[in-house]
Amino acid sequence: MAHADTHLRTPRELAVVGGGVIGLTCALAAVDAGWRVRVHDAGTDRRAAWVAAGMLGSLGEGHPGEDELLKLSVESVRRWPTLLTRLGDPQISAATDSLFVAAASADAEHLRTLADFVWARQPRAHDDLRPVGPSEIRRLESGLSSRLHSGFLATGEGAVDNRRLLDRLRTAITDSGGDIVDDEVTDLSTIDADEIVVAAGLGSRALVADLGLYAAKGEVLRLRRTRWSVPPPTHVVRARMHGRSVYLVPRHDGVVVGATQYEPFDETAVAPDVGGVTDLLSDAVELMPGLRTYELIEAGAGLRPCSPDGLPVVRRVDERVVVVTGHGRNGILLAPYTADVVMTLLGDDRAESVTGAANDGGVR
Ligand SMILES: Cc1cc2nc3c(=O)[nH]c(=O)nc-3n(C[C@H](O)[C@H](O)[C@H](O)COP(=O)(O)OP(=O)(O)OC[C@H]3O[C@@H](n4cnc5c(N)ncnc54)[C@H](O)[C@@H]3O)c2cc1C
Repeated sequence: MAHADTHLRTPRELAVVGGGVIGLTCALAAVDAGWRVRVHDAGTDRRAAWVAAGMLGSLGEGHPGEDELLKLSVESVRRWPTLLTRLGDPQISAATDSLFVAAASADAEHLRTLADFVWARQPRAHDDLRPVGPSEIRRLESGLSSRLHSGFLATGEGAVDNRRLLDRLRTAITDSGGDIVDDEVTDLSTIDADEIVVAAGLGSRALVADLGLYAAKGEVLRLRRTRWSVPPPTHVVRARMHGRSVYLVPRHDGVVVGATQYEPFDETAVAPDVGGVTDLLSDAVELMPGLRTYELIEAGAGLRPCSPDGLPVVRRVDERVVVVTGHGRNGILLAPYTADVVMTLLGDDRAESVTGAANDGGVR
């Protein structure tokens, strides 16, 4: 157990519970700020960040009523280049821009409502989010359906290969002297460290009381290009297809197709629902007909850890424990910003060197 004089120890010891994208990004920031770090992780099966698509959506994630989330997202996008440089692997980046497209006029109206909201809240967004017509859509992505109505191009709103990202985060932590152990933490009082960061996604509920977290399940598919296939898109393609949303996120060998979002009746039923998979496949091939020749190599599902007000929960629980969870549909996007906030809570804002600009608040 930690002793009363722990604040005098150097380097100080930090235990991070949870090796998803949030836990690992916080752990890397702490290692780089001089902490001795040990990550405890219960494994891939319970990791939303493994299932996810890896979009770094900010303007395109803007929904009326989510003003604060939009601000945090813009802040976090700004920090991503620094984190990618720190990880030193250009192949983590899967796309740099996003193309939003609408199948029909009602879908175009929906996209326009979202864009109007973003432009009103982020005046500079007029430069980064601009309308595009059908011919420009075809010029940008020739593999998309020729029957799309219209869309928007979001410059600088890209995506990462989330599985490669997680691998590289783990390597960067251990290469810099941190430890990662595969175990499930059931009792924080058994952890010997000066400080503990609980970043266990939905698993945080078992360790910290009253988080109010709930799960939002999502199906996601991984398709692999064959030698007869058209190439994957180069943009993240986010489509509104007759009232439903579907996205295609490029990978070097194919695309990730996602994602459904709904509150599951049973959180232990983690297999993908047939209905969700069917909707995603039918919308994806209507959007990009050449996907018919791709191979379906994985149909997965994950549980997003969601907070009641849609904002991440980042707060001190007691003198030794900080909790960080509730990132919902945006945990990968929000990871670098979150790591800065956590380092500030730990009383160490040297994380600036890892994750970019300084924290200016905005989470609870
Ligand atoms: C279908 C789908 C698509 C998504 N797409 C995107 C996207 O495109 N962009 C984006 O930004 N976000 C996306 N997300 C959301 C994103 O995946 C989550 O917000 C993010 O993974 C949350 O990160 P986390 O580290 O808090 O939790 P997780 O990634 O769930 O990681 C939690 C970790 O804690 C471990 N753990 C749990 N309990 C314990 C314990 N008691 N002891 C030790 N370890 C424990 C688990 O094993 C796991 O490794 C998507 C999510 C889903 C489900």
